[in-house]
Amino acid sequence: MIGSKVWLVRRIRCLAPGLVRRQRPRDCCWHHKVNWRQAAAIAVHLVRQAHAAGIAGEDIGDFVMERVHDEHGDLDDRERTAIVLLVGLDAGIQLSEPGSAWLYGDGQHRVAAQLDQGVRETIVQRLELLDPVTGLPVT
Ligand SMILES: [Zn+2]
Repeated sequence: MIGSKVWLVRRIRCLAPGLVRRQRPRDCCWHHKVNWRQAAAIAVHLVRQAHAAGIAGEDIGDFVMERVHDEHGDLDDRERTAIVLLVGLDAGIQLSEPGSAWLYGDGQHRVAAQLDQGVRETIVQRLELLDPVTGLPVT
């Protein structure tokens, strides 16, 4: 259960981000030990590269992890795992169904840790079912 002070700090951070100091990674749990500023920045950069190369859907995760291996070999295992948790198809931060209330399907603690560290941009996944014949979204 998150205390009222945490919610107050998060609300202030939304309204006036300059008033809330960014936290460094800390030891309370795995999620807060990750350097999310580093992991999210790399994930966002590599997903943009994948999109620019015309890669979409489930192939993005493979593209990103190949680049992480090739270009960020010195990355700590914790941040490498965090990137997997951002871009992996079964692991990504997911919101509830479009048009419904703002709820997380998965990844709420990861989002909280990123916000605490001042991450302003990350990867959020949305499942969209496509008709196998037309390729158009199923409504
Ligand atoms: Zn924690």
